[in-house]
Amino acid sequence: MRKKIIFGNWKMNGTNAEVKAFLELVNKNIEKSDVIAGLGLPFTALQTGIDCAKNVKIAAENVHFDKNGAYTGEISIQMLKEIGVEYVIIGHSERREMFNETDVTVNLKAKALLENKMIPIICCGETLQTKEAGQTIAFVNNQINKAYENISKVDALKTIIAYEPIWAIGTGKTATAQDAQDVCLAIRQNLAKIYDQTTADQITIQYGGSVKPGNIKELMEQPDIDGALVGGASLIADDYVALINYS
Ligand code: PGA
Repeated sequence: MRKKIIFGNWKMNGTNAEVKAFLELVNKNIEKSDVIAGLGLPFTALQTGIDCAKNVKIAAENVHFDKNGAYTGEISIQMLKEIGVEYVIIGHSERREMFNETDVTVNLKAKALLENKMIPIICCGETLQTKEAGQTIAFVNNQINKAYENISKVDALKTIIAYEPIWAIGTGKTATAQDAQDVCLAIRQNLAKIYDQTTADQITIQYGGSVKPGNIKELMEQPDIDGALVGGASLIADDYVALINYS
């Protein structure tokens, strides 16, 4: 049985005061024990997140792959580990589009995180243009092949994948549950080619892109969708709770 993992992604939102108030509400209301709930927060709010969260895992939204050095403005894995962060979102399409994240840096980050016993949430997903050209699966599989280069089977089992079609992020346009399922299945089939079926069957694949309380259930019912990465709706405490307690 794969773990069900639903994470919010607050992006560049959330002061410490807001994170504290949000978690105080959310802590009391999370009922489900079969879902791992999490929240991606900006660096400045991570410590507050760690201190205030009860049943919510806290994720960073980026990290540098190198140990330390002359990288003005960057944050290292050690810095995140020191405060108790276990999960890091890498390769989000916003970082790929706006901050020069590439398949190569995603792979470097994934390997560095795994070496440090942290869990990468590896994002992938196609643009509308790629989708309309009928290239979604080839494009996403290529992102996955590159992200998992030189990652052992044992380490691959510790990773999470977030399939997030770029055209569905923040647009209110969710992929249909069937479309999202088809791509998540293709990703799993690709993982079986890279590793083997048993390994592929154990890796959690999230869907992301305009997930909200009204569509989470149908998405989660798909056989190859094991969770969600949620932006906008995760900012509202009631919606976040409804997402985690979806069933
Ligand atoms: P959204 O964002 O839920 O606001 O579409 C998802 C994401 O970017 O992870």
